[in-house]
Amino acid sequence: VDGDHVNALVIGSGYGGAVTALRLTQAGITTNVVEMGMAWNTPGPDGKIFCNMLRPDQRSYWLRTSTDQPLGYFLGIPANKAIGKYTGVLDSERFSGVRVYQGRGVGGGSLVNGGMAVQPLRSYFEEVLPSVDPKAMYDTYFPRANAALGVNYIDPAWFEAAECYRYARLSRNQANASGYRTTFVPNVYDFTYMAREQADTVPRSALASEVIYGNNHGKRTLDKTYLAAAAATGRLSVTSQHVVTAVKPAPAGGYAVTMTQIGTGGDPVARKTVRADRVFFAAGSIGTSKLLVAMKAAGALSGLPDAVGQGWGNNGNVMVARANHIWDTTGALQASMPAMGIDNWSDAAGPVFAEIAPFPTGVELWVSLYLAITRNPQRARFVFDTGTGAVDLTWQTAQNQPAIDAAKRVFDRLNATQFTVYRRDLFGPNKIWGDDFTYHPLGGCILNQATDNWGRLPGFPGLYVVDGSLLPGNIGVNPFVTITALAERNIEKIITTDLS
Ligand code: FAD
Repeated sequence: VDGDHVNALVIGSGYGGAVTALRLTQAGITTNVVEMGMAWNTPGPDGKIFCNMLRPDQRSYWLRTSTDQPLGYFLGIPANKAIGKYTGVLDSERFSGVRVYQGRGVGGGSLVNGGMAVQPLRSYFEEVLPSVDPKAMYDTYFPRANAALGVNYIDPAWFEAAECYRYARLSRNQANASGYRTTFVPNVYDFTYMAREQADTVPRSALASEVIYGNNHGKRTLDKTYLAAAAATGRLSVTSQHVVTAVKPAPAGGYAVTMTQIGTGGDPVARKTVRADRVFFAAGSIGTSKLLVAMKAAGALSGLPDAVGQGWGNNGNVMVARANHIWDTTGALQASMPAMGIDNWSDAAGPVFAEIAPFPTGVELWVSLYLAITRNPQRARFVFDTGTGAVDLTWQTAQNQPAIDAAKRVFDRLNATQFTVYRRDLFGPNKIWGDDFTYHPLGGCILNQATDNWGRLPGFPGLYVVDGSLLPGNIGVNPFVTITALAERNIEKIITTDLS
């Protein structure tokens, strides 16, 4: 409520925010989470909370009048369609040189993502975050994160027989035959639920083309794990459909946090300011960086270090698809949750970890799709436009060339050994590489550079960064397990040293 004074305010309810909310409430601290997206708990007219990939409606996208699918073309023809403008669950946020996909709603990215729960290679973690004690991470915080997230492994025997993973087995066999190592990838989607889907004993979700616009069943999203546990303490309040627009020191102490309540059409309903003793920035790499850069430029937090807004990367993301021979079918029924990856990270000339991605259209298309994570050293920064008051990102599509080069080494060889070719029709007319968007925005407020070694913003006691903006642009695998584990590490320290 406008004028309230709260103890701890968390901006955003994704991984960083959910970990923070649970550990603060467990420590006895009343915690208020403010989230710009909706609380996805009410079914629509079709009886479902979320729509699937085949028939996206207004629930799919954040305030757009047409869909903006990552694979926006088929046979080179635009495949997007008109939808109602609504506070949908997936945002494709456009900057001048990149589209950044992000989850919107209570649970953040966990609502829309593929659930792949991957721990980074220890040697690479040590390289990108040298100020963090790796032993503590790998002995304590990664296991803690995996347990609380509900990470599980697929039964390899079931995988070998499952109709819905024909596409993954084909890609695996082709990769192995080309000399590449493959590995199972853990997930937060309940694989035992998926087995029952395949047996037709429960409502289908992963087997009903549900992903990126939400899953109606099976996935252990943050609202069912961390946030549910925080709510069970009785000390959590979550306010959805409120966009935080400003944070500045309050004359009475603490910080004044200004927010706009919005309706489902994005229309402003009310403006509120609350005073918080402590503010935790958990709005994601993009959300947190944008807010801090704007506050620094506007003079509200002018003493923030120059490193704020720097060091953003796309985790080396690039997508690509191959066309298979007519006898190499990928299956009409495809599990929308990936379960396997090609691990070529040890190739010094171009490290690649490529998730074998589904193409769950419901019909046989002979397409093998991949999301490659590469070691792209390119970085960008956030800049405040004094004219418009908006924050842009300096990233240009051409900066993704190192990612293409690395992925091309792997997939050129795969195509050569399999006598197959790239699909050129899915990312644009005659376009092989999906290089102009990312699912993995990272950085902008890097640990031990823009913050201290625990996420505290120097010069502003009581301000903390707890999300993916702390990671330096690249982590080599899908990022949410690392974001969660790092948040576990930092909040433990903050609670013991600052809050007790
Ligand atoms: P987020 O989870 O993005 O949470 C930030 C929250 O803050 C959001 O809910 C947002 O709405 C809210 N917010 C932002 N600004 C404001 C504001 N001003 N006021 C109020 N609220 C605000 N990662 C994996 O590890 N495995 C995968 O399989 C995987 N698949 C993915 C698939 C897709 C389609 C996408 C988009 C992402 C995927 N990711 C995956 C990435 C992963 O989801 C993100 O890395 C992760 O969610 C980031 O966590 P976070 O806590 O930094 O921020």
